[in-house]
Amino acid sequence: MRPQDLLRPEPAGLYCPPGDFYIDPTRPVDKALITHGHSDHARAGHGAVLATEETLAIMAVRHGEHFAGTMQAADLGKPLAINGVEVTFHPAGHVLGSAQIAVKRDELTIVASGDYKRRRDPTCRGFEPVACNVFITEATFALPVFRHPDDRDEIARLMASVRRFPERAHLVGAYALGKAQRVMALIREAGHAGTIHIHGALERLTALYRDFGVDLGDLAPATTDKADGPGIDAFAGAIIVCPPSAMSDRWARRFPDPVTAFASGWMGVRQRVRQRGVELPLVISDHCDWGELTETIGEVGAEEVWVTHGREEALVRWCELNGIRARPLHLVGYEDEAE
Ligand SMILES: [Zn+2]
Ligand SMILES: [Zn+2]
Repeated sequence: MRPQDLLRPEPAGLYCPPGDFYIDPTRPVDKALITHGHSDHARAGHGAVLATEETLAIMAVRHGEHFAGTMQAADLGKPLAINGVEVTFHPAGHVLGSAQIAVKRDELTIVASGDYKRRRDPTCRGFEPVACNVFITEATFALPVFRHPDDRDEIARLMASVRRFPERAHLVGAYALGKAQRVMALIREAGHAGTIHIHGALERLTALYRDFGVDLGDLAPATTDKADGPGIDAFAGAIIVCPPSAMSDRWARRFPDPVTAFASGWMGVRQRVRQRGVELPLVISDHCDWGELTETIGEVGAEEVWVTHGREEALVRWCELNGIRARPLHLVGYEDEAE
């Protein structure tokens, strides 16, 4: 069997003809396998969805209980048969519940890794390399200039700023699914035991992380309305985590002289820091950097690599220079990095 007969790009997403299912389809389909809960991968309106228990729970929070006709939870590492195709979910290390999907028929294995990272993340299971013939990789930060620093050093800079400016609030912009909870967990690991305040838009997903056993310590709403919460002075020296969009809202101006921080892989790019007017950029990414992408490709031992969303050309070229067949998939409908 040729790889393109087992999985191929179609307008609705990656399609498996013998299994008659799609992976992370961008349009409503009869049967969808979903790698993780980010909204560009996990859309509502499919006939049937197969995903990890955590991803199903995230989709229910985002899209309501009836986000698909039927839902089935996939256990990590347990093969399932779909129309004679063997499908196995493996941890991807990207966000809570994120999985790579291995698709196998006869002697051919293709791994669709979804979004993934290799760094330790206290809020989700670590990436497990899966040997395969064809590896489908994302390419969000696929340029040699991208080298993410140690996230503990980034959080240490946040904590130093909190100590240095005890009269100011620290507003940390972080994407609502994954990044926000990881930042909170890292703040705890850095030894900060005080209350962390969270924007209302983070409440349900953060509660879901806690339901799945992720310990985030003492959290409280970032309510500034005196009628139902503390006055703004209470936020002097406080850490407030919010979605990036809230940082430029009127909401953000209520806090005492806030230091604006933003946790994103893109904060390694000076122009983006300036564009957003971020005072304290924190380079914390839920995607691999260049070194991690190329190491992973070596580790899974694939003869062929398909590259999708991001800087596809550079990684395709790297594979070719290293004697690995490679091609860009040109799938559309996925975002760069969810901010
Ligand atoms: Zn993602
Ligand atoms: Zn993605």
